[in-house]
Amino acid sequence: MYKHESPIFVASPLLPELSAVEERLKQIWDSKWLTNIGPQHKELESALRQHLRVPELSLFCNGTIALLTAGKALNLSGEVITTPFSFAATPHSLSWMGVDLVFGDIDPHTLNLLPEAIERAITPRTTGIMATHVFGTPCDVEAIEDIAKRHNLKVVYDGAHAFGLEVNNRGIGSYGDITMYSFHATKLFHTVEGGALSCQDPDMKQHIDMLKNFAIRNEEEVFGIGINGKLNEVQAAIGLSVLSVMDKERTRRVRIYDIYKEVLTGVAGLEMVKIPDAVTRRSLQYMPVLVRKSEARLSRNELHTALKEYNIITRKYFHPLCTQYDCYKDLPSAAPDQIPNATRIGSECLALPYYGSLKDEEAYNIAEVIRHLLSSPMNQKPYDLARAC
Ligand SMILES: *Cc1c(COP(=O)(O)O)cnc(C)c1O
Repeated sequence: MYKHESPIFVASPLLPELSAVEERLKQIWDSKWLTNIGPQHKELESALRQHLRVPELSLFCNGTIALLTAGKALNLSGEVITTPFSFAATPHSLSWMGVDLVFGDIDPHTLNLLPEAIERAITPRTTGIMATHVFGTPCDVEAIEDIAKRHNLKVVYDGAHAFGLEVNNRGIGSYGDITMYSFHATKLFHTVEGGALSCQDPDMKQHIDMLKNFAIRNEEEVFGIGINGKLNEVQAAIGLSVLSVMDKERTRRVRIYDIYKEVLTGVAGLEMVKIPDAVTRRSLQYMPVLVRKSEARLSRNELHTALKEYNIITRKYFHPLCTQYDCYKDLPSAAPDQIPNATRIGSECLALPYYGSLKDEEAYNIAEVIRHLLSSPMNQKPYDLARAC
């Protein structure tokens, strides 16, 4: 085991050859069409619809504006049930829509919103569910669909972690009313900043397309309160170039996943998140592990700190929980005793470095360091480099 010379971060953006981007930029320059749903946008939208295997797709300038637009398109109001274990964009988008948040607990294995918790949280004011496919593990989409049908609720999935995920040979975005994807630079697929909504029918797609363009229906008519959510041509061009190297990136990520799995299997107190049987294609966007409080030699926080000594930078994902933010902590559903699983997982989950350009040797070393730290005797300083090397 060795200390890495420079810090290894948790993610690194996928960069296609600059020449591929330049070629597309030239097309944009020649056409003088910079934004407002030009040729690059149309090409990317259609390519992603196929890649993600969803019926309809609409591109956005980022995932958060896409979530806001989804709420508007589905008329979310009253209360919406959501997860405490997600990125800030999930609850914030609901708050910006003006709906009341109700948090439900998560499944301690999939880390996703529990169907039973959704069912318990429903009141006469509930209009929808916003659930995140955390780390690309699918929510229990069938149970959620059943609840939504019985209670007449809309379902929005935050699929920011779920690019490329398929369940039962269907794109994850073919479940629920609307699924949001984020194309931020730190995500698997990206357009520097960007995002998309998938939906199930052409009428909804048309509605979303108009909402993201100020609700302009045509030259003569603005039909409602829209927003500017458009993705520009330069970013769409970058996205097309990134998409062309996606297969290669995925192959690398499978390899790195396997290295982590090989070394980390059997380490006491450490668990990889299990991939449900229904998954027919993995997303491969994150590498989360759970450092179980009751069994591991170090806590998640101690491991996180100890790894820094080796220049291995991990992330306490999701810490703090959304329910711990000042703006939400006083909600009745945010009390820790209401969400015991999320409260525990929030202190046990750690995301490891995961990206295609990570070398095999680096992945082996990271995994070996973790193995060592979690297996060294209690009285040994866990990050005693002299001993470790
Ligand atoms: C990245 C992310 C978002 C937001 O995406 P942006 O494109 O950065 O606005 C939303 N939800 C989750 C879970 C995310 O990880």
